[in-house]
Amino acid sequence: MSGFLLEKYRGISPYVPGEQPKEAGYIKLNTNESPFPPSEKARERYMRAFDKLNLYNDPENGTLTGAIAEEFGLKRENVLVTNGSDEALAFIYMAYAEKGKPFAAPEVSYGFYPVFSRLVGADIVTYPLKEDLSVDAEAFAKCDLNVIFANPNAQTGTFMPISDIEKIARKRSRLVVVDEAYVDFGAESAVALIRKYPNIVVVRTFSKSRSLAGARIGFVIAAEDIVADLKLVKYSFNPYNLGRAAEAAATGALEDKEYFDTCREKIIEAREYTLRRAEALGLRVIRGKANFLLMSSEDIDGGELKNRLYDEKIIVRHFSSPALLSPYIRVTIGSMDEMKTFIKVLEKILSGVRK
Ligand code: PMP
Repeated sequence: MSGFLLEKYRGISPYVPGEQPKEAGYIKLNTNESPFPPSEKARERYMRAFDKLNLYNDPENGTLTGAIAEEFGLKRENVLVTNGSDEALAFIYMAYAEKGKPFAAPEVSYGFYPVFSRLVGADIVTYPLKEDLSVDAEAFAKCDLNVIFANPNAQTGTFMPISDIEKIARKRSRLVVVDEAYVDFGAESAVALIRKYPNIVVVRTFSKSRSLAGARIGFVIAAEDIVADLKLVKYSFNPYNLGRAAEAAATGALEDKEYFDTCREKIIEAREYTLRRAEALGLRVIRGKANFLLMSSEDIDGGELKNRLYDEKIIVRHFSSPALLSPYIRVTIGSMDEMKTFIKVLEKILSGVRK
């Protein structure tokens, strides 16, 4: 850290992304990516866009914005595309949070929320999870602050029914940001509520269910005035935020509904298989609807289990904080073959420690 860095940034612990191994040969179940390649339609559009990379992209990203609006039956003024949904979240924090005006978030959720809070000088306000590790909708419904949560929730995978989101949104004097990074794997979206509750802001990504994590595409769906606020931030920060090639890939991925459905159905099937098998091995598995499962064993600590799996070339994620997560590993759902290997290796490790 240089002596030039502003005082206000010195206490920040930046978000730590999961490992991207430099060598091949690992089964990678640590960053909730899709095990499947991008759609062929994404490839075709992406390659065509390549020939025009000498030109700046359309700053409005009109093609993709229009396609998303059509997909959800909304107007383009309800959509803002971003460089990954992380950027969408960053714009939201820049637009709506500051010292004395925090977002309330679940105590266990996406680790970037407290980082954004610090970056914009806002306090971190959190609510504990319920005993079953689900998000406490009642607590959020009562609170007067702007709120943000992931649904399904990050790290746990638990999901909040739409009726609970509606309860929270009834207090229209505050924003309700629903981060739907994992919604396509079986949960219900809050997009349908936006017309009735113009204080709901939905954040989505192409990184998980659309197999485009490395292209960095996210988007916001919200009332027109909210999207206008976020555009003010975008055009004051990085007007060409989503590049031409990424926009093309996303447009192709959105067109390919059949591939999208096939991939997510395979993930759901592999998740249910993994859940059943891990429970049969005696693990506690949190029942969720994301493309990952949180699981723990009474016989081995989460960090140790992660290391043992790593030795067998399987990478999963372990969080030592918050403390509640420490006994668990978070396992991204890969292909069925990958999950069968995972279960086999898990069984071997557990039989070793149980002797
Ligand atoms: N929200 C949640 C809950 C996430 O887990 C992630 C992925 N780490 C993101 C947002 C960001 O995803 P991306 O920037 O790739 O769209």
